[in-house]
Parts: sequence; C-alpha cells; structure tokens
Amino acid sequence: MNILLVYAHPEPRSLNGSLRNFSVRRLEEAGHVVQVSDLYAMNWKASLDENDSGATQRDARFDPSLDSKHAFEHGLQSEDIAREQEKLMWADTLILQFPLWWFSMPAILKGWVERVYAYGFAYGVGEHSDARWGDRYGEGTLAGKRAMLIVTAGGWESHYSPRGINGPIDDILFPIHHGILYYPGFDVLPPFVVYRSGRTDEARFSVMCDELGRRLDDLANTTPIPFRPQNAGAYDIPGLTLRPEIAADTNGFAAHIG
Ligand code: FAD
Repeated sequence: MNILLVYAHPEPRSLNGSLRNFSVRRLEEAGHVVQVSDLYAMNWKASLDENDSGATQRDARFDPSLDSKHAFEHGLQSEDIAREQEKLMWADTLILQFPLWWFSMPAILKGWVERVYAYGFAYGVGEHSDARWGDRYGEGTLAGKRAMLIVTAGGWESHYSPRGINGPIDDILFPIHHGILYYPGFDVLPPFVVYRSGRTDEARFSVMCDELGRRLDDLANTTPIPFRPQNAGAYDIPGLTLRPEIAADTNGFAAHIG
C-alpha cells in the first residue's frame, strides 16, 4: 500500500517522534511505501488566507471558499497545497498522528486540513440538488481510501471513558473522524490512542509499540467505524436528518454510527 503519514509534533525526540519512527519502520518492513508530511519540519503555513489562491485580485474581497474553488479548478493554488493533494491522491491510507492539544489536533494540523481540503477537492463535490446533497459522508474524492488517527493524550483512559470527565474519546474525536475524514470519503478505522502519555518509560514504550505494530500490520483488514452514508437512505434530503425509524432512541454523535 501507499501510506501517507501526516505528523504534527514540533520535537523529533518526543514520544510522538519515537512512535512516528517506529511506524515508518514497521510499515516499510511490511513492504508499504510511506511518505511523511512532517508539518513542523516543513514549516507548514497553518493559516488559510488570500496568499493561498493566486486567483484573488488585490482589490477584490477575499472569499475563502470561492477563491479556493477557483484556484483549485485553474491550477492557481499554492504549490504546498497542490503537493499535499497529490500525496492524498497517491495514498491508499492516510494516517494523522498528533498529541491531543486542547481536546483536538495541534493548530498546524488543523491548518493543513483547512488549506489542503480545497473547494472542489474535499468539499463541494458532486451533484447538489433536491435529490442529492453532493458526494460526501462516505462518498467523495477520497472514497475507497482508509484513514486512521494515532493520538497521544496526557489524560487517563478513565477520564475519556463513557462517563469520564473529559467526555468519551469517541465523542472528542468525532469531528475529526466524521467531519474531516469520513466527509471527503475515507473509510475511518478506529483510532490508536495512547493515554497518560507522560507516564511512559522504556517498558511501556515497548508494549505501546507492540500494540501499534499490530494495528499497522492490520491496516488493510481492520473494520472501519460504521458511519452512516449520507446518500444511502438513512437521512432525508434536503433536511439531512436521520429518518425517524433510524436509531430512534439515540441522539447526538452516536446516532450516526450504524
Ligand atoms: P513527550 O512529552 O515527548 O513524552 C512523554 C513521555 O514519554 C516522557 O516521559 C518521555 O520521557 C517518554 N518518552 C518519549 N519517547 C520515549 C521513548 N522512545 N521511549 C520511552 N519513553 C519515551 N492532554 C489531554 O489529555 N487532553 C488535552 O486536551 C491536552 N491538551 C494539551 C494542550 C497543550 C498545549 C499541551 C502542551 C499538552 C496537552 N495535553 C493534553 C497533554 C498532551 O496530550 C501530551 O503532552 C502529549 O500527548 C505527550 O506527547 P509527546 O509526544 O509530547 O510526549
């Protein structure tokens, strides 16, 4: 497989750095081809602005969506954006690896998503009508590819349990899993989460690598999270609300998992 690992940690000698090195080695030993986008090392520009789309005229109002669309369609995007889009098209599997910072991804990685996910590439794809609301949530440019998160968290596993104070980890990661990965078409695999990361010594690191190694060995066979596709009948259109008979007793994030 072709695997793209998008990695967001500023310090190569960190736990994340060690896990990244382990992952690349393991995947390459298994015969995969791996590309790493090391965002801090690349000095990745995190903010989406008018410099991203050569389309913008100096005196025109910058429109983040429409200028992105125009630049994507006319080959006017910043080179760094186009290169990451090419890597995404090349990859069979995308791995996003990051420390959990303020219950989400580090800003540099959010900026990678905002800039690389151009209008016409990751959203605004497919027919938009009364009958269809575009190719998204299970369909789209990246359909047929797999994606997985590798996340380290300072908090304990119990803090992220169904009744834990931080909220369930599946809820915290839902906007990334469902909104960033499933939306443009990825099949999303269950995440690999390291809890209580500050309490890592060599013995624990070794166990961690064994577990992560098994997940990486199994990338092609792991069952994805069964999010409900938008256009397969579970949602009414154009309201895009679950039909009353689907998950009738469930609200919130969990209702969108079949
Ligand atoms: P490091 O600090 O580099 O390492 C962690 C431990 O692993 C250290 O003890 C180190 O010695 C050891 N280690 C590193 N490499 C190895 C190796 N090869 N072998 C053996 N041991 C090793 N946590 C939450 O749960 N929720 C949050 O919302 C949250 N928000 C945060 C926001 C910010 C801005 C910051 C800075 C932290 C936040 N944290 C949060 C904590 C954060 O998730 C952890 O600091 C992070 O996951 C640790 O990963 P790291 O790669 O930086 O680890």
